[in-house]
Amino acid sequence: MRDKRYDLLFEPVKIGPVTAKNRFYQVPHCTGLGRLRPRMLAALRGMKAEGGWGVVCTEYCSIHPASDDLPHPHASLWNDDDIKDHALMTEAVHRHGALAGVELWVGGARTANLYTRETAIDVASMPNLAGHPYQSQAMDKSDIRELRRWHRNAALRAKEAGFDIVYVYATHGYLLSHFLSAHSNTRSDEYGGSMENRARLVRELIEDTKDAVGEKCAVAVRYSVGGDDGEDPSLTSERRDRLEMLAELPDLWDININDYYQEMGVSRFIKEGSLEEHMSFVKSITTKPVVTVGRFTSPDTMASQVRRGIVDFIGAARPSIADPFLPKKIEEGRLEEIRECIGCNICYAGDGLGVPIRCTQNPTMGEEWRRGWHPEQIPQKSSDASVLIVGAGPAGLEAARALGQRGYRVTLAEATRELGGRVARESTLPGLGEWRRVSDYRLGQIEAMPNVEVFRESELSVDEVLAVGADHLVMATGSTWRADGFGRTHPKPLTTLSTAARILTPDDIMAGQLPDGPTVIFDDDSFYMGGVIAEKVRRENVPVTLVTPENVVSAWCEYTSEHYQVQKNLLELGVDIKTGHSLLAYDGREVTLCCIHTERQQSIEAGALIMVTARSPRDELYQALKQRMEEGAQMPFRSLRRIGDCEAPAMIAAAVYAGHRYAREFDTEPDPDASCRLK
Ligand code: ADP
Ligand code: SF4
Repeated sequence: MRDKRYDLLFEPVKIGPVTAKNRFYQVPHCTGLGRLRPRMLAALRGMKAEGGWGVVCTEYCSIHPASDDLPHPHASLWNDDDIKDHALMTEAVHRHGALAGVELWVGGARTANLYTRETAIDVASMPNLAGHPYQSQAMDKSDIRELRRWHRNAALRAKEAGFDIVYVYATHGYLLSHFLSAHSNTRSDEYGGSMENRARLVRELIEDTKDAVGEKCAVAVRYSVGGDDGEDPSLTSERRDRLEMLAELPDLWDININDYYQEMGVSRFIKEGSLEEHMSFVKSITTKPVVTVGRFTSPDTMASQVRRGIVDFIGAARPSIADPFLPKKIEEGRLEEIRECIGCNICYAGDGLGVPIRCTQNPTMGEEWRRGWHPEQIPQKSSDASVLIVGAGPAGLEAARALGQRGYRVTLAEATRELGGRVARESTLPGLGEWRRVSDYRLGQIEAMPNVEVFRESELSVDEVLAVGADHLVMATGSTWRADGFGRTHPKPLTTLSTAARILTPDDIMAGQLPDGPTVIFDDDSFYMGGVIAEKVRRENVPVTLVTPENVVSAWCEYTSEHYQVQKNLLELGVDIKTGHSLLAYDGREVTLCCIHTERQQSIEAGALIMVTARSPRDELYQALKQRMEEGAQMPFRSLRRIGDCEAPAMIAAAVYAGHRYAREFDTEPDPDASCRLK
């Protein structure tokens, strides 16, 4: 049962006219679903409520078509049609005794309204802050009156949809934060000038919302206390003064800082509870409940935050995505079952890409409605079949865990002593230690399953696989990085690489083969690996040049919101960065590069070249078994499959998903249309 030290996390907390049943608060977070996929969204949020979160909020919810962020899928309360979509979510949340919150949002100059083609409005005429070739229209007094009317109407619709908490969203670089800021607010009317004037619109919206729905709904304000790296200290101190001025107006303060990259930073750069230094004063200046985030996964840290008077609620986006049942597990004393977020931010990529959310740790995330997957429950076995899984990387481990949960007899064979595959290896790279949680969680679960047997140091050959005598075979044997230059840039292996040259791959570096002289890294992969390898090698005091055909290093890291930090980190470490260049040749002494725009060539002296280009599936075992089947040999098994990187190398989240999907669909007739269900 529950540890007494965590009792305080389960105390009810009053928020204005409503009461949360405990202190677990899923703050607004994007899902790549929003107004486009209301059923998927309702099932996702409902799952959090089932998992014990006392408050479950929407993502940012536009109050009017003049605030449209598509292709990023936000929610909306534009007209009465939207009400029924949200009612799906509030009903799903209420069914489990949780409160439902909605974050009313006006994007201002951050939205270009590409879908609705309305003109964006903001405190002034300013360039679109997402980089689109548009400017906002400066709001006059009648626009401000209109905005207040839209906000009020959206709040009334929110009430009708069944929400219990309605937000005024005054941070994160959207319209209201521009009104508040002395930097961006240059108005000379009563909405500009003094701190009081600049806060006037936020104050009015809080009062309007209270007036419209305050009897039934709590009014929350999402607000930044700033203090981010590089912020002018006078701005930070004004944020505090302003918070003090407004302290008692709303029913709840949802506090964060401006900088997304810090606030929701990847674990490579930002650790648990990182906002405390910025917001620890807040509770001393307001009697209203306070929530903030911090990628909290440790109940000790959570309890300590409450006990020390830092927060009233444990705010979470990512920990609630990785484990929707985190509160239940703490409540029931099942701490070892918590699936801890690894801080990889794959969940955030869905919003940037305009597609449904996915999570590395929780393969059921986003599939609650579409595939009917539950993060904790899975149908029991429908036969006595046995399964041999070869390879204990994320795909093999998840398949073994989920098949084991279903009750099947599973044999998991792994070539190496250590289990975890690429996760075990990659978590030794700089900053990636928390990634080990992917295998830790699964190994912890498997250990308690008598029907899953694990064999280490068991590199299986075809005959050994057959000798196991399992009914079903799954190859989860992973992939290896290529050293021949093949990748996006070069569709064929390069013939200009000297066979005597020292050419390494990330696999070599992870195995401890480090270069000892000037090194060039050719990053044609453009996700995290090139940048992490550059850091690892540079920390050996070796001169490193990182070459990429992209315009920035680690370009795909834009979607995981870490690309600025990656670039800054590498520049500070003294890594020489060469963007817009491709690799032509390496003779063992000089690497020849070519500008992708001008085709101008240049050479860099290097004792080693590291290729971060593409991977080859390690599928020899699968192919050999398949060939025997095709030759008509009588095989002792009933099915053969390959999953994860062995099938198609991809991100860790894809391998976990592949393992989970295999286990879910095993011995069933999966719905072929499940992937098409997108509402
Ligand atoms: P994925 O991401 O698809 O799970 P990984 O590369 O992380 O793939 O893991 C694959 C695992 O399979 C590695 O730990 C590797 O040692 C193991 N493996 C590869 N070939 C064999 C084999 N023939 N027998 C047993 N284990 C193998
Ligand atoms: Fe955490 Fe990564 Fe899952 Fe996001 S995708 S919740 S960061 S484990």
